Amino acid sequence: MGRNGKVILVGAGPGDPGLLTIKGREALQRAEVVVYDRLVGPAILAMMPEKAEKIDVGKAAAHHTVPQWQINQILLDKAREGKVVVRLKGGDPFVFGRGGEELELLEENGIPFEEVPGITSAIAACAYAGIPVTHRDFCSSLHIITGHAKAGAELTIDFDALVRTRGTLVFLMGVTAMPKIVEGLLRAGMDPEMPAAMVESGTTPLQRRCGATLRTLPERAAEMGIHSPAIIVVGKVCALADRFCWFDKLPLKGKRILVTRPKERAGTLSDKLRALGAEVWEYPCIETVPIRPCPSMAAALDHIADYAWLVFTSPAGVSAFRTELRRMGKDGRYLAAVKLGAIGTGTARALSEMGLTADFLPTVYDAEHLGRELPAEGRVLILRAEIGSPALTQALERRGIPYDDIPVYRTVYQNGASRALRQALEAGELPYVTFTSASTVKGFAATVGEGADFSRTLGLCIGEQTAAEARRRGIPAAVAGEATIDAVVALALEQ
Ligand code: SAH
Repeated sequence: MGRNGKVILVGAGPGDPGLLTIKGREALQRAEVVVYDRLVGPAILAMMPEKAEKIDVGKAAAHHTVPQWQINQILLDKAREGKVVVRLKGGDPFVFGRGGEELELLEENGIPFEEVPGITSAIAACAYAGIPVTHRDFCSSLHIITGHAKAGAELTIDFDALVRTRGTLVFLMGVTAMPKIVEGLLRAGMDPEMPAAMVESGTTPLQRRCGATLRTLPERAAEMGIHSPAIIVVGKVCALADRFCWFDKLPLKGKRILVTRPKERAGTLSDKLRALGAEVWEYPCIETVPIRPCPSMAAALDHIADYAWLVFTSPAGVSAFRTELRRMGKDGRYLAAVKLGAIGTGTARALSEMGLTADFLPTVYDAEHLGRELPAEGRVLILRAEIGSPALTQALERRGIPYDDIPVYRTVYQNGASRALRQALEAGELPYVTFTSASTVKGFAATVGEGADFSRTLGLCIGEQTAAEARRRGIPAAVAGEATIDAVVALALEQ
């Protein structure tokens, strides 16, 4: 057995990726093997390290879930190989999550393990639906109950005892049994007018709340077609939901937005849109790949004293430069005599992550303004994409400023034609697509393939050049007020 093998049971929270704990995320980032199940959302799955082995035990062959004994065995086997294994579970692993069962075999075999609690849906789905699970005016206890009955068997819930508590009741796994649960509570003497609710897909962009009374819940839930995963909440606190349902009031709630940024840069934009309630689909349509080796960059940097300005038009350019500088065994001091230009705040931030401060940013963050406004002080070294915008070099030429334009990375249009994306697009299921550069437009168009009908979507574009590229391809476009991610978010809010 490898010496370092261990298992970390991690609660992924109820759905909103922001509800994963910091400790849980750190464990996930260290994982060599991740064993996950159905309730874990896509944004958290996207945090899994690329190199980690990923084992989906919630949706194996023919949609049968992997039996519990087999999951236990997988955890044991992988830990014995000396791997750091993260067992990722929805909500909290110990709240109806079989976390305890999964530890038994490990404990018997002397495998070290840890448990990182998660936020349970029992509390979080209520919170996002505007239901505080306790409130001093209404109740003094909270009860979390399983509504799951073994196939063919009756529920074994002591309804009399539950009614006597006068507390808030939250049932998990109870969608199918809901009418029976309601019947049981009524028969045990609970007031038929007791406020009750169901919350479906709580904390996710698809969250729906069904507000009712105990008497009307079965009918209301059937009307709305509430389905799993959902919780049932019974208690006076449910009456507060209409006033407290903050999540449903977020400005982008109910809006689906496709984010096409390259994978490594999608984070910020997606997070900001999600925080405003949007349903974000991340679909990286391009990838930036540094050119390596890059003799022309090496040669230019060898003669850095020949240049007055070193100019970057993207974080990807800064990243390729950083790698080259490190390869040369140099650091920021090497650039002491040269000034640094950045096309916008994102690029300036990438420089500052290297401990470098941009000396110049144009008034409008695009290639044209950069070329027009860069102070004329001598030769300019531009480190950027293989096919960069001609607007920058044309503007420099007009002003008689000498430059070297050196490609340091290339843009790869990642995906082949994606049928699913095209179908969603043409069915009107993708009302908004964000474009943060002309190459994301090209990547998106390449992904959905020739001849796609874009009439039911709107491109939210970072700037004029990006919008022009979109319109050229028949994609209706709106343009952000300035070329920043925040302005793209503001543009989404205006729709
Ligand atoms: N360990 C999990 C619960 C697993 S049992 C936790 O702590 O949340 C699965 C049940 O949890 C589902 O049947 C449903 O009742 C509930 N559930 C999980 N995620 C949910 C969500 N996002 N919204 C509403 N209910 C959810």
